Amino acid sequence: MSDADLDIWDVIVVGAGPAGSTAARVAAEAGARVLLIDRAAFPRYKTCGGGITGRSLRAMPNAARATFEADITEFGLSREGGDRVMLHADEPFLAMVQRERFDQALVDAAAAAGVEFRDATAMRGLEEAPEGIRLRLGGDGSDGVLLARVVVGADGSSGRTSGYVGVEFAGSDLGLEVEVEAIDHEWASTALFDWGKDAGAYAWLFPKHDSLTIGVIQRTGVPDATRAYLELWLRQLGLAGATRLRESGHLTRWRSRTSPLRRGPVLVAGEAAGLLEPWTREGISFALRSGAMAGAAAASAAAAARTGDLAARDLALVGYVAAVERELAPDLVAGAAMLTVLERFPVPLHRFLAHTRRGRRLFVALCRGGARLSALVQHPLTRIAAPVLARRPRRPARARARLDAA
Ligand SMILES: Cc1cc2nc3c(=O)[nH]c(=O)nc-3n(C[C@H](O)[C@H](O)[C@H](O)COP(=O)(O)OP(=O)(O)OC[C@H]3O[C@@H](n4cnc5c(N)ncnc54)[C@H](O)[C@@H]3O)c2cc1C
Repeated sequence: MSDADLDIWDVIVVGAGPAGSTAARVAAEAGARVLLIDRAAFPRYKTCGGGITGRSLRAMPNAARATFEADITEFGLSREGGDRVMLHADEPFLAMVQRERFDQALVDAAAAAGVEFRDATAMRGLEEAPEGIRLRLGGDGSDGVLLARVVVGADGSSGRTSGYVGVEFAGSDLGLEVEVEAIDHEWASTALFDWGKDAGAYAWLFPKHDSLTIGVIQRTGVPDATRAYLELWLRQLGLAGATRLRESGHLTRWRSRTSPLRRGPVLVAGEAAGLLEPWTREGISFALRSGAMAGAAAASAAAAARTGDLAARDLALVGYVAAVERELAPDLVAGAAMLTVLERFPVPLHRFLAHTRRGRRLFVALCRGGARLSALVQHPLTRIAAPVLARRPRRPARARARLDAA
């Protein structure tokens, strides 16, 4: 089939996680004709703690709130399984979701805005065409070609659009999770966070309605050590023998400071763009917010392309890059600095966050989205410490694992 015979979409969004479904919904609300595709059959599982911060809350459509499974009013902060301090608040400072239900609700909101959604439809490749972008589909009986004026790549951390755009990653982690059964459980409104022994690693327990998500995250390259870390955390919680409903793992990656966000009429959003905060590895709010920015820019760009005004199209697309750099990038840079602090000074950082009033208030404010990491990193004391931190070489997780084994 030649391109002339193909139906041309204003916007095709690849990947229906929080970034993709938000991009699709916002573009459709702005008047674009939008197709959203995902290679998985929906609803689909996604390895994720499902922690919803105040920033995520503000960026999501109201309908998705119906999927909240728990509100967190107690938060335990500990280090290597000990020195736990419980933070309490009358108002919840985090909400918890199961990603299957949450992501489906976001897709439903996109469909309600007029988006056509095709699941079990994998994108295998993309190339520039005179009218915009040609996408090749494949597998699962979804072979074919699609044509779009603008594409939003939201296909996650190992997606194909990152490679097409040339996204550069500064770091990567392996997250491992176990969902364990927990009916009428004691953790209903309590979450736990435990800073680990290896550089930058941490473990968590996040409650859901009738289960607990228990997970660990650490630098890639030491999968056996990461698995052992998860089992240790389960033993520390007294949950090694609990009924395991599901076990899974996922790679996360975050962008380098100057990584591109666009190539021609292809934008990348969410984790496909490496938009993940490297310290806490919080990614949902970045996916929702970059998705909204990409959707708005894609709709304007497609409207310009329809009239043949490619200069106006490109201006709209450049606007996306500028918005991400202005609104989101500073917190990612700050998160990378905080990760460095966690890797080099885990004990003082834990003491500050758990044992000082200022630290506890800051932690709660970060969860609620009332404080920005970038503001913290610009604090005069942090600025004085930064050059000192920058001088010390980072010890990679792999080297640490070998030392431990010796
Ligand atoms: C262990 C772990 C715990 C986490 N916990 C939290 C947390 O508690 N809170 C938080 O805010 N963040 C958390 N994150 C990060 C968060 O999960 C991600 O940042 C977020 O899911 C990114 O959303 P996204 O829409 O960019 O990508 P995704 O949610 O990964 O969605 C990408 C979609 O693209 C689809 N896709 C991929 N390739 C193709 C293709 N070729 N064609 C079509 N479709 C394709 C996939 O099927 C998928 O549905 C965690 C991450 C991990 C690994």
